[in-house]
Amino acid sequence: MADLEQTAIERLRAASEMSLQHYKMPLIITDSGGKDSQVVKELALRSGIPFEIQHNHTTADAPETVRYIRQEAKRFEELGIQYTINLPVYKGKRTSMWNLIPQKLMPPTRLVRYCCAVLKEGGGAGRFIATGVRWAESPSRKNGRGIFEKNGDKNHRIILNNDNDDRRLLFENCRMRSKRTVNPIIDWKDADVWDYLESERVPCNPLYCEGWERVGCIGCPLAGAATQEAGFLRWPAYRNLYLQAFEKMLVERKRTVDANVQGDWVWRTAGDVMHWFLADGVLPGQIDLFEDYDLFDEE
Ligand code: SF4
Repeated sequence: MADLEQTAIERLRAASEMSLQHYKMPLIITDSGGKDSQVVKELALRSGIPFEIQHNHTTADAPETVRYIRQEAKRFEELGIQYTINLPVYKGKRTSMWNLIPQKLMPPTRLVRYCCAVLKEGGGAGRFIATGVRWAESPSRKNGRGIFEKNGDKNHRIILNNDNDDRRLLFENCRMRSKRTVNPIIDWKDADVWDYLESERVPCNPLYCEGWERVGCIGCPLAGAATQEAGFLRWPAYRNLYLQAFEKMLVERKRTVDANVQGDWVWRTAGDVMHWFLADGVLPGQIDLFEDYDLFDEE
């Protein structure tokens, strides 16, 4: 564990040096409110580097996460560290998950994650950022993410997968001002993260104490149907927000999508869309004996 911590701290120090040299600005630690960001914030504190923190408010986060982020902002500000909460903007206007769905004419899916691009991954343009991304989280992260990344267009992206990558010099000397990323705990396993938080007594999002393994957006299609449904049971107001957004989305689809194209789609009600969203096997027009989603506005 001590080796893992030291290696991660060295990565942060290297990124901090590059950030100060190339951007003349401190490294930004991104805080999602989850356990991995929590480890990175703690490591940044221990590394002694200058840094600031940014959190992107997704509007679909659980109330507990929102309150926890406010506490974290206060904790770091009391330590003299700047903590910024970014509110989402789309096409120049403040937005939310509930506004985006009607505008995008479909719910977000595993493959069409338009919400992440707008709500979660903004901020840090033209800066060096640090994230809690880890290879153990998913096969796509294992294949597509590295310790250091220069996020240019696809052809000019540089990803360094180990600390001694022979392209390191190219990365460090590159003068392009595009966003760069360091993922200092990319090689940590889940158990390493939990062990570290526990042994170092680092405070954590209280939802983990309730047994939630992910504390991201409620209803997130990446979390899988079982977690989506569990989230809607725990926070029913969010299920209603999705239903209201689906209702508006259907109105927008009627108004803007060619009727011939619409014929391919069989969503007639917000409840149909919800069943499709949760992939729960209830077809459009079928009545779910246990829950009729379209009764939501009579609750
Ligand atoms: S719902 Fe999931 S895919 Fe969408 S912003 Fe949140 S985490 Fe990203």
